[in-house]
Amino acid sequence: MEHRIERIKKQLHAESYKLTPQREATVRVLLEREEDHLSAEDIYLLVKEKAPEIGLATVYRTLELLSELKIVDKINFGDGVSRYDLRKEGAAHFHHHLVCMECGTVEEIVEDLLEDVEKKVEDQWQFQVKDHRLTFHGICRHCQQKNKESN
Ligand SMILES: [Zn+2]
Ligand SMILES: [Zn+2]
Repeated sequence: MEHRIERIKKQLHAESYKLTPQREATVRVLLEREEDHLSAEDIYLLVKEKAPEIGLATVYRTLELLSELKIVDKINFGDGVSRYDLRKEGAAHFHHHLVCMECGTVEEIVEDLLEDVEKKVEDQWQFQVKDHRLTFHGICRHCQQKNKESN
């Protein structure tokens, strides 16, 4: 945790930003709840527990700054809510998501899996791929199990 904060601090410094206490509180919430794909409001409520004086606008601005610097990615799973997701350390591409249409859980795939597709896009469309977003919508293994049992 501390060394990841240190690294994010350096990323901010490299772009002439400071890790202010409010920004740090926001980053800590993102690190603590890394798997949770939280919305700005969720993050705000958790940051408020650490820094009661913080306002929603400050949290929004911090999240926008972190997305600009590619420290977090803004994602939308089709429910109209923007969620914030920390980029994995040293990851060249954004990880993929498996979203369960029944229980709403989100699982992550960190492996790229798309090297062949990227190569094809670059060859056929002469498009230089820098990143991608991939979300699979389906039914998770727990829900599949539950459905099997109730049948
Ligand atoms: Zn994720
Ligand atoms: Zn499920």
